[in-house]
Amino acid sequence: MSERFLSQDKLPEDVEFDQSLRPVSLEDFTGQKKLRDNLAIFIEAARKRGESLDHLLLFGPPGLGKTTLAHIVAREMGAAIHTTSGPVLERPGDLAGVLTNLAAGDVLFIDEIHRTSRVVEEYLYPAMEDYVIDIMIDKGPSARSIKINVPRFTLIGATTRSGLLSSPLRSRFGIVEHLHYYETDELTRIVSRSSRLLNIPIDAAGEVEIASRSRGTPRIANRLLRRIRDYAQVRAGGSITAAVADQALKMLEIDRHGLDGMDKKILSCLMKEFDGGPVGLSSLAVAIGEDAETLEEVYEPYLIQQGLLKRTPTGRMATRRTYEHFNLTPPAQPGGLF
Ligand code: ADP
Repeated sequence: MSERFLSQDKLPEDVEFDQSLRPVSLEDFTGQKKLRDNLAIFIEAARKRGESLDHLLLFGPPGLGKTTLAHIVAREMGAAIHTTSGPVLERPGDLAGVLTNLAAGDVLFIDEIHRTSRVVEEYLYPAMEDYVIDIMIDKGPSARSIKINVPRFTLIGATTRSGLLSSPLRSRFGIVEHLHYYETDELTRIVSRSSRLLNIPIDAAGEVEIASRSRGTPRIANRLLRRIRDYAQVRAGGSITAAVADQALKMLEIDRHGLDGMDKKILSCLMKEFDGGPVGLSSLAVAIGEDAETLEEVYEPYLIQQGLLKRTPTGRMATRRTYEHFNLTPPAQPGGLF
């Protein structure tokens, strides 16, 4: 089993399941209560005024429900949704094409908005603020810009880390919401719902077992559910119990906290190669053979949330908990952290 199995971002097989398991209304959306309550109010207020919703920025690690929420918001506003992503919008013309296709009140969802190029970003500002874009036509001495009006629309941007967004762009969003990792009881409800939709026989203890080992992430919970279903069908008569889930997860090398091979590699490298740190992000990334951005955006947030890794001004450090987790004795002076 690949060590990237768990924490990796979207896998090709996820796409189909992501869609079939996606909740379609705010009520159906489990967890993130504060965010849900806020959105419900903003949506209702905008609808009462007959206006489109303010531009909305969602940030949080992959698989927590940003795309799902964008679709829900559009549906609750009775609006059509157009989806694109930062890396796809390379040139201003790409953005102009998308914007001029919008109808009044539509939602434009830009995933990975922090990856939008700077030039495109500059075109986005007047579009968001004044609903106009300036297009340059012709070249050389006859070059001139013309203003094109775009209909009032709602931009929903998703990003894995708000720190990666330029401040002019960030400031143009009227609503900024942060998605947090899910609690085990919330993930249990998500596993329960998914197994019902996919017709997978599972008992309550089996649901909890999967939920508690899903890295706080619905996409991973759904992914594990599918893998464990395969295991149950071949080895355990088709039904998932806590014991069956545990055996399958052991086979997938996912430990009791939901850490997968890559998580373990990062932490053991930090403890063994770098004596617990501090070590710079790029050195750590090279040592584990992963790119620094993925390490920072995809793997680290959960490890930090679990208290297994610390970001300090001098670099990444292991904590007392990291050593306890692996049953190792901390060095006498691990970088002076404890
Ligand atoms: P992101 O855009 O943040 O990477 P997605 O919105 O694509 O995440 O969510 C991944 C999958 O996880 C969805 O298809 C959906 O099945 C599931 N999911 C996410 N959030 C929830 C939730 N709150 N309740 C139920 N399922 C969810």
